[in-house]
Amino acid sequence: MRRKNICLIFIKNVDIIEHLFYYISMEREREELSEEKKTEYRTAGSTGEDAEENVESNIEESIEESIEESIEGNIEGDAEETAERNAGYGCREIEERKELPAAGPRSGEALVKAEGGELPVMEKLRILTDAAKYDVACTSSGVERKGSGKGMGNTKLAGICHSFSADGRCISLLKILFTNYCIYDCKYCVNRISNDVERTAFTPEEICSLTMNFYKRNYIEGLFLSSGIIKNPSYTMELIYTAIWKLRNIYRFEGYIHVKAIPGADAEIIYRLGLLADRMSVNLELPTAEGLRNLAPNKNRTTILKPMRQIQNGIVSSKEEVALYRHAPQFVPAGQSTQMIIGATPESDYQIVSVAESLYQKFALKRVFYSAFVRVNEDKSLPALPGGPPLLREHRLYQADFLLRYYGFEAKELLSEERPNFNVLLDPKCDWALRHLELFPVEVNKAPYEVLLRVPGIGVKSARRIVRGRRLSNLQFDDLKKIGVVLKRALYFICCNGKMMYRTKIEEDYITRNLLDTDNKRPPQPDIINGREVTYKQLSLFDDVTWTRKKLADIR
Ligand code: SF4
Repeated sequence: MRRKNICLIFIKNVDIIEHLFYYISMEREREELSEEKKTEYRTAGSTGEDAEENVESNIEESIEESIEESIEGNIEGDAEETAERNAGYGCREIEERKELPAAGPRSGEALVKAEGGELPVMEKLRILTDAAKYDVACTSSGVERKGSGKGMGNTKLAGICHSFSADGRCISLLKILFTNYCIYDCKYCVNRISNDVERTAFTPEEICSLTMNFYKRNYIEGLFLSSGIIKNPSYTMELIYTAIWKLRNIYRFEGYIHVKAIPGADAEIIYRLGLLADRMSVNLELPTAEGLRNLAPNKNRTTILKPMRQIQNGIVSSKEEVALYRHAPQFVPAGQSTQMIIGATPESDYQIVSVAESLYQKFALKRVFYSAFVRVNEDKSLPALPGGPPLLREHRLYQADFLLRYYGFEAKELLSEERPNFNVLLDPKCDWALRHLELFPVEVNKAPYEVLLRVPGIGVKSARRIVRGRRLSNLQFDDLKKIGVVLKRALYFICCNGKMMYRTKIEEDYITRNLLDTDNKRPPQPDIINGREVTYKQLSLFDDVTWTRKKLADIR
């Protein structure tokens, strides 16, 4: 017994020592990363020795001060001053020394607005919420983080409030752009530099006060912040970082924050922003590299995938750190997502679904959002949309996306080179089932969970309930209805205890007709004639006018 105790103590100590070593090595890695950054800044900056010293001390000062003071959580007295210093991290000081690329034609104007703001805040809000409406990657999920009790807000699994705009898009309030100034010229975007639209930019302070005021009024439960690009990606990310840092550390906002990472921005800023935000997303914009070349000439696939990979790696190592040390800072705890524009380039549904599948597999994304292309610019390289935005296509892609994530389907099962687009009349699951009628009907009391998931009308929840329920007793159709199975679709594909709900032909044409017939979805019910069940009877030309004396008497 004593020997056993000694062994246990020894094992525990070894564990603790291992953890300590692990933590120390991670800290070292971080320091090394920061060293690399410093070297980059030095290289990008001036060649003179003085300038080098300046950069060194400035970066070190701002990084260390910011980290130390964030940890201490000093919110009184000189907190405002501290925040201002932190706001300086990577912003003006570094900008001056890094010899950033030449500013875009409108960036000087943008800076004036970003710093002071000429328009009233409500006017800016009108412009920048309107400019944000085309960004659909806004739903929140996958995070439940309690507030510390000192600040305001927390995140629930339900996430932030959703509302739906008139064209069916999901909008999370407060969903805004930091600025709609942009130095890029993406052909599909309303904010591109060549468009003559009303421009403005929030200051970090304005973002904070708007978020807090809306939060206090219960209008919102979080913030979704995206942006056009002022000057260059790193500069814009630094402004966003300043706003989010203030929101978290000065205003003590602990609600949900979703921030867009701008491709091409400095890795250090993305990392630091990831420690403050719940979710980050990098927009893929268009499904293929060729599409990107044609419509977004300033962007390329490599710069988009790089931050995506960085965020993925950050999430993985953050999870490992949290497993070892409960209070370790979390990096993007709600995961990352992305968005693709659908219909602006000629890719097929099969290509789009395959890209989404590979993003889920390679980058462990939480969500891929699909945004039906809205033609807001007159440009000959954009497709004409006589029927309006392809909203049905967007809907089918979302349905397929759920099948990939929760139902165990693969892209190649849903579509192929020969059948590259979804059926406009049937949802992808029904469409698949109709092409695999040899697998049906499925016996609900025996079929494995994975098979139940493939039945149209049975969702993840109902499949789980079926598996639980059938342990207690044989399920009947009435039970399935109570469980939540959508019988009007499922009845063609299932049987209970060897019997189908109605006598149904397992034929593609017959089932398709019935699935599409919205008024009369049930197959004809059996009639009882002379005590015998008759399912199919000969149609009579006089069926409609066969009035018996009794029926006529009833009507009178
Ligand atoms: S980078 Fe492209 S898509 Fe983003 S705001 Fe600028 S022009 Fe629009």
